[in-house]
Amino acid sequence: MRDNIELPVETIRLADGLKWEDGWFATRLLDADTLTIGEPAYHQRNWSYLIRDGGEALLFDTGSGRRPIAPLVAHHSNGARVTAFPSHMHFDHLGGINAFGPVTVADLPMLRACETGGQLTPADEMFLGHYEGLSVPTFDVGRWVRPGEVIEVGARRLEVLHTPGHSPDSISLWEPDRNRLYAADFIYCGALYAQTPGASLTQYLETCRQLLETIPQSAEIACAHGRPVKGIDEVPVVGHADLEDVHDVLSGLLQGPPHTGEAPVNERMFLLYSEESFQ
Ligand SMILES: [Zn+2]
Repeated sequence: MRDNIELPVETIRLADGLKWEDGWFATRLLDADTLTIGEPAYHQRNWSYLIRDGGEALLFDTGSGRRPIAPLVAHHSNGARVTAFPSHMHFDHLGGINAFGPVTVADLPMLRACETGGQLTPADEMFLGHYEGLSVPTFDVGRWVRPGEVIEVGARRLEVLHTPGHSPDSISLWEPDRNRLYAADFIYCGALYAQTPGASLTQYLETCRQLLETIPQSAEIACAHGRPVKGIDEVPVVGHADLEDVHDVLSGLLQGPPHTGEAPVNERMFLLYSEESFQ
């Protein structure tokens, strides 16, 4: 298990508009009905998204689990019924998963294969919790949603996109009415992980191509990890041009022989990859 999983909260500086809550989380409204919930003192600097409308709310990723996220979510839900939807099964996105009742899960064969009697237990190689000494959780599945299906949260409509590359089970949510993609770990600020088990550069590139065709140039891409810039933590939001940059780096790498390394993408991100991820 690695050290330095948590940084002292008092050493973290937040961008204007972000505020501390519960001594651990940093929150800000992305718009009137969308709350970003960051964990800048967690070494992976995770960001989850509470997407609300009327009496309903969807929590896209449930945090690192270093602190309970449910009380904060309840406070900001104004009595709405909250459904959790993990972007993928990596441990740092499932932290508070059992605090929200039956979970919405992407209807993918590899996840169906992990379900028994309405309960899902991710495979070890999907969860990767051994990196931080964590045990695999088991949780109730309330709903399976197919790629291409549209989830309604009140009057809001979010299309589920299968976005493999970082991991084979990754999904993103596309909300055309707000011109926003919730991309989770597919793209974010910092080190993009394509070196972990299940990562595939070929799938990463294909998903880039599909996303570049799907979302307009002006779209906002809300991400699941951030990194401080000049010592200040900010909500990780990137754009179409960043996606183009990732596409171009992947395309270049795949023209060469498989090898392990890291490649700069742009000033905001770089890509980690392994020989195995060329397959
Ligand atoms: Zn991940």
